[in-house]
Amino acid sequence: MTAGPLNPQIDTSKPHPARVYDWLLGGKDNYPVDQTVGEKLPPEARANAARNRAFMHRASAWLAHRGVDQFLDVGTGIPTSPNLHQIVQAITPTARIVYADNDPIVLRHAEALLVSSPEGATDYIHADVRQPQLILDRARELLDFDRPIALSLIALMHFLPDEQDPYGITRTLVDALPSGSYLVLSHGTADQHPELRVETEAAYKKGAIALRMRTRSEVEPFFDGLDLIAPGLVPAAEWYQEEPAPENERSGFYVGVARVK
Ligand code: SAH
Repeated sequence: MTAGPLNPQIDTSKPHPARVYDWLLGGKDNYPVDQTVGEKLPPEARANAARNRAFMHRASAWLAHRGVDQFLDVGTGIPTSPNLHQIVQAITPTARIVYADNDPIVLRHAEALLVSSPEGATDYIHADVRQPQLILDRARELLDFDRPIALSLIALMHFLPDEQDPYGITRTLVDALPSGSYLVLSHGTADQHPELRVETEAAYKKGAIALRMRTRSEVEPFFDGLDLIAPGLVPAAEWYQEEPAPENERSGFYVGVARVK
């Protein structure tokens, strides 16, 4: 299903966040303009993208093991195996997953996200997170909003400058979820790499991509009113449940999982 133009065009003349991220992960669905941004980023950006993606894997699996079987993933990105539905349906084959992204290249590759297990279901919404109500309305077609849902906003909100109200948008989405639901959020930061801040911001700015890295105290309010699950709001490489976290891994992302009261 799509909320925008039915066949939005892929613009290969300017870089896009989804394609830069794909380049950072070593994917093939990017263009020279995206590579140019990626190559200007500090080399740590690639390891940080991988750590962010690995957090998505761990958090989604952990939630599936706790019985969550409905997922709403906004800012999905270009499919990169394993995708969220592959992780959670390997644990709960009946799980239902709704994906949403605003980039035409993600829509183009959406078939890979729609190959659900036969017992479960997946869907894709071409939509912008700045229209949260529209995403919620479409998500209701597949998800039951009377039962817990895990909402994931992973490596998304740093693309929304303050004036686009990232906190209010997150609140609108979270407020629609019933008690026992979860927010899974990761957010770009320079706190652990202060020496790389200027280079990172300059690379995105040159590509005309708005990047608003946030400090810890600026990421915390995304979780206002929710119960943060241990280990709390931590660098991506430190979010572990049963296993111990690896030592000495910095990260360009803060991550957290919180429960809706
Ligand atoms: N969540 C994935 C991908 C992160 S890349 C992961 O962490 O592995 C960020 C994604 O957010 C890109 O696919 C980009 O297209 C999407 N995005 C950026 N701004 C958006 C917006 N306003 N609405 C919806 N998606 C957006």
